[in-house]
This record gives sequence, C-alpha cells and structure tokens, in this order.
Amino acid sequence: MSRLARTHGLTDVQQEILSTVREFVDKEIIPVATQLEHRDEYPQAIVDGLKELGLFGLMIPEEYGGLGESLLTYALCVEELARGWMSVSGIINTHFIVAYMIKQHGTDEQKEYFLPRMAAGEIRGAFSMSEPALGSDVSAITSKAVRDGEDFVLTGQKMWLTNGGTSTLVAVLVKSDEGHPEGTAPHRSMTTFLVEKPAGFGEVLPGLTIPGKIDKMGYKGVDTTELIMDGLRIPANRVLGGKTGRGFYQMMDGVEVGRVNVAARGCGVAQRAFELGVQYAQQRHTFGKPIAQHQAIQFKLAEMATKVEAAHAMMVNAARKKDSGERNDLEAGMAKYLASEYCKEVVEDAFRIHGGYGFSKEYEIERLYREAPMLLIGEGTAEIQKMIIGRRLLEEYRFQG
Ligand SMILES: Cc1cc2nc3c(=O)[nH]c(=O)nc-3n(C[C@H](O)[C@H](O)[C@H](O)COP(=O)(O)OP(=O)(O)OC[C@H]3O[C@@H](n4cnc5c(N)ncnc54)[C@H](O)[C@@H]3O)c2cc1C
Repeated sequence: MSRLARTHGLTDVQQEILSTVREFVDKEIIPVATQLEHRDEYPQAIVDGLKELGLFGLMIPEEYGGLGESLLTYALCVEELARGWMSVSGIINTHFIVAYMIKQHGTDEQKEYFLPRMAAGEIRGAFSMSEPALGSDVSAITSKAVRDGEDFVLTGQKMWLTNGGTSTLVAVLVKSDEGHPEGTAPHRSMTTFLVEKPAGFGEVLPGLTIPGKIDKMGYKGVDTTELIMDGLRIPANRVLGGKTGRGFYQMMDGVEVGRVNVAARGCGVAQRAFELGVQYAQQRHTFGKPIAQHQAIQFKLAEMATKVEAAHAMMVNAARKKDSGERNDLEAGMAKYLASEYCKEVVEDAFRIHGGYGFSKEYEIERLYREAPMLLIGEGTAEIQKMIIGRRLLEEYRFQG
C-alpha cells in the first residue's frame, strides 16, 4: 500500500473490499491495459472479473442482491480501478449512476425488476442527456416523447453515450408533452425513460439505432456512441418514478454522485502517473546521477504527490458528506474540479519526467496522457463546476447588510 492517498477511519469490510480490488487491478488490469487500449478492445475478461467481485452491485441495497455499500466505498474502488485503467472505471460508472437513479427515484416495480439484475451485472446501464447540439446546457434538449395511449413515442438524436453499445438499459432524458403546457420551464418538462435494448450496434429495436463507436483520442476499450430514436415506443411504466416532468432533477441527482466518481477517477489516474514518474526518475541517469537527484525533478515529484494527496482528501470529503445524508453539491463540484485539473497536471509532469520516452507508445504514460483530458469534460466541464460552486457559495454567504 502506497504512503499516499490513504483513507482513515475505514471499517474492516471496506478495507477488505479495497485490498481485493487493488489486487485485482495489479494482477488483472495493469499488465494488459495498455495493449487492450491500443487495440481499442473491450475488456471482456476484466468485466467478467468485476462481475464476480460484485462490483456492479456495490451500492445496490442488499435487499435487491447488491452489497449495500456506501458512496465512499464505491469511490475508493473506482479510484483503484482508474489507477489500473480509466476505461474500466467508465464501464462501471454509467451503470452505477443508472442504478443509483432507480434506487432513489424508481417505482417499487422498477426497483424490483431492474436492481437485482443490475447487481448481478446481467443488465448494464448507460445514461444519456447530451445531444449533438448540447452538453452543458441540458435545458436545451430537443429529443421528445409524445403520449400515445399506454405508450410514449420517442424521437430525437442523443450523443456521447458511454457504454451505448454494450449496455442493455439506457436512462434517456427527453422533453415530454404530457401535463406540461406550452411555456413550462424546460427543467419541469423533462422525463427520464428507462429504455431496455439488446447490446450491439445498428437498428437494435424498431425505432432505435446505435450507429457505431465514436473514434476517440483516449478512453478507448469502452464504447462511446450516438443513439437515434425514430418513433421508439416505450410503455408508460418505464417512466422513471412513474411521473413525467421529473427527469431533469433525477438526472442532476445522478450526475452529482457521478461527480464524486469522476473525482475518484482523477485521483486514480494521478496516482498511477505519480507511480510511473517516481519510478522512472530513479532509473534514468543524466549528468552522472539519477534524474531524481536533480532538484528540479524532486520539486516536480513533490508537487505531484501534494496534488495526489489534496485531490484524494477532497474526494473522500465529498463522498462522506453524501453518505451522511447531507447535500454535497458544493463539495462534489469542488472535488471534481480540483481532481480533474490536478490529474491533468500530474500526468503532464510524469510525461515530462519521461523525456522522449513519454512520447513512445511503449510507455504507459503515453496512454494516461491521452486519457486525462476526458476527466476535464465528463460530468460537467470546469466552467460548469465553477458555476455550481459559485452559485452555492453565494447561497451560503448571502450578504446580510
Ligand atoms: C468520452 C465522452 C463520454 C461522454 N459520456 C457521456 C454519457 O455517458 N452521457 C451523456 O449524457 N454525456 C456524455 N458525454 C458528454 C459530456 O457530458 C459533454 O461533452 C460535456 O457536458 C460538455 O458538453 P459539450 O461537449 O456539448 O460542450 P459545450 O456545452 O458546447 O461547451 C463547450 C465549451 O464552452 C464552455 N461553456 C459552456 N457553457 C458555458 C457557460 N455558461 N459559461 C462558461 N463556459 C461555458 C464549456 O465549459 C466548454 O469549455 C461524454 C463526453 C465525452 C467526451
């Protein structure tokens, strides 16, 4: 166990789960991650291993077959997985958000139907807010659902679905017509639909097409797709929570826990970059000594380790706040913002320590260098985090004069 990023006050069960996940990462993920990433290959064997470990049901309550663990346990597991390969944490992340949304907002029937299968990893979740013309501005969604008897008919184009092809359940946010007269505020006229589909690409259901994988600079292995709905019929009992008009709030709740998750991924990637940098700095010699003995490189290592430590502390604080039942939007926004920025900086420093070799695909840092930028964007960009943090601060520190 490294000296950095330790978490105090964990229970025996949490420690046991974490050491099992860490061992799995060291043995089953790190040795194959870079090869699989370069081939953009889906890590099926790793996913099967995660299923066996019960990670798909980590936070799903025990009554539904999950492990009933806290957000903190989940985030610490994600940190370990991202230390091995960020894409693996991405496979778990959207599944976790959808399971969380069903647990928090689903009807009893939806919980009983979906959660046990999700805990077993038989149903795997993706979530879809973004469209080609919008990501940050969710209120501008144009995909829509129109009521038709016992069904809704969905039309529109969605963008950037992580696990869009491999998932079998997508939580899709659209505008809905029912009970929302013209002029209703956008966030009160949105509905989340639970769309079950077969895994795969092409027209997977009448009216539902997953065109293919988007070719990305990093974050490979995990599939990211578009989703096109053209007269897709979904029964009314697949409206999340059974009532239309609540989708925006449900999704924002999901994204809030997702932010802790992205912060944890930033922590994991930064830790790995530090490990690679500190090892390389002791092996590479220039001017007659290991580069780690040059003060400029030592300073870099000191800065990197301090950032790893600070990001971890903020991520743990945000997770614990949510677990205590308190509102954590401020802490989650801060943790996501800081961890993703620090991750990019630590990876950049580790890359520089590698000199020319960092540019070679033979070295793991090359992969991390292409992966870190995704964390600056997913679950809300830095600008969006700062908007959330700023608004919340003004609520807390309202001028009393
Ligand atoms: C690999 C990958 C996976 C993804 N997975 C998913 C997924 O599973 N589900 C999903 O729904 N989405 C997903 N997304 C989409 C992601 O959430 C969006 O890309 C992100 O929210 C940013 O939206 P955008 O790309 O439309 O950028 P825009 O919203 O167009 O923003 C462009 C730039 O303008 C800035 N900006 C925007 N508004 C403001 C403002 N008011 N003030 C100041 N600056 C502003 C932004 O910060 C950014 O720098 C994924 C994206 C990627 C790249």
